[in-house]
Amino acid sequence: MSIAATPTPTAAAPVLRLTGPVLLGPEQELPGAWVVDGRIRHERPDLPRGAEIIELDGFVVPGLADLHCHVGIGDDGAGTTLEVARQQALTDRDTGVLLIRDAGSIIDTSPLQQQRDLPRLIRCGRHLARTRRYLRGYADELEPADLPAAVAREAARGDGWVKLVGDWIDREVGDLTPCWSAEDFADAARAAHDAGARITTHTFDEATLPLALDAGFDCLEHATGLTDETIARAAQTSTPVVTTLVNVGEFEAYAAQGETKFPAYAAHMRRLREGRYDRTRDAHDAGVPLLVGTDAGGVLGHGIVHDELDELARAGLTGTEILQAAAWAPRRFLGVAGLEDGAPADLLLVPRDPRSDHRALRDRTQVVLDGRVVVGS
Ligand SMILES: [Zn+2]
Repeated sequence: MSIAATPTPTAAAPVLRLTGPVLLGPEQELPGAWVVDGRIRHERPDLPRGAEIIELDGFVVPGLADLHCHVGIGDDGAGTTLEVARQQALTDRDTGVLLIRDAGSIIDTSPLQQQRDLPRLIRCGRHLARTRRYLRGYADELEPADLPAAVAREAARGDGWVKLVGDWIDREVGDLTPCWSAEDFADAARAAHDAGARITTHTFDEATLPLALDAGFDCLEHATGLTDETIARAAQTSTPVVTTLVNVGEFEAYAAQGETKFPAYAAHMRRLREGRYDRTRDAHDAGVPLLVGTDAGGVLGHGIVHDELDELARAGLTGTEILQAAAWAPRRFLGVAGLEDGAPADLLLVPRDPRSDHRALRDRTQVVLDGRVVVGS
């Protein structure tokens, strides 16, 4: 980085000159770009006389997205204060995550949306779960008769997303089972869509996926139970799967905890864990859009996006495919601009081409949020 002109007392925020390749998409790049007044400019703009210009070198990629992140849930599984939620979001930001879709929070995090130094936050509101069929205290727990009204309520509270916990261990059966009937899933999807929102579901079990797909769910979280059949269906409808492979790696711990009382559940969780890389690769190969999610908050700490990207590499995705899942595809899916001319400048500078090796993202040199360098110098 070098300063080409000294600031004058009247100068506006520094102008950034990005001198490296700007990766607009998997096959689109520009030789450089500018950031003026917080916005990306593809062409050299007219600059005010005496404007401070900061040159930043390196490959330019859009800020990473985390589609499954719990800002506002603490390590103890309880709701945090707003200040702790802010620290969680800052931890994610500093790793290069500049766009978060929260996948359910215990507290109302909407005040954080006014804080310009935090990642852009798209809230899901509170998780909805069947009575006693989820982690205690996380969700609004309810019965099918109350589901459509609860979906409509959360749609009104959130930013266009509702999350339903689709399956969990059924202690009477001793295994994972769907928490809701086909009709309940359909009613929930209809209530969300009628309210102008999209709906996603937490799902581990094979049996839940056909129900969610039949109902027209817009997204699938974890989706460890994908089979050849449900992969083909999700591909056909382009229904994205939010991979949370770091979390799925933890299934061994859940299996061990449940071993004595619920041996079938333990065996099931181990099978799902063992198949995680093959299933992810199969889904990708079939054309199912994969989106990165960390499931940070609660059991897993924040700031782990690069571990999730390493997991996608283990599943066989290339650098370009990982960048697609981590940045380009989720931004399009959420309707948030990437590096287009005029877009808010939320981007990372990385020292090597991340299309050939995703680990370049971990070595980022600067994080720029809203046109300001927030990490690096
Ligand atoms: Zn989660």
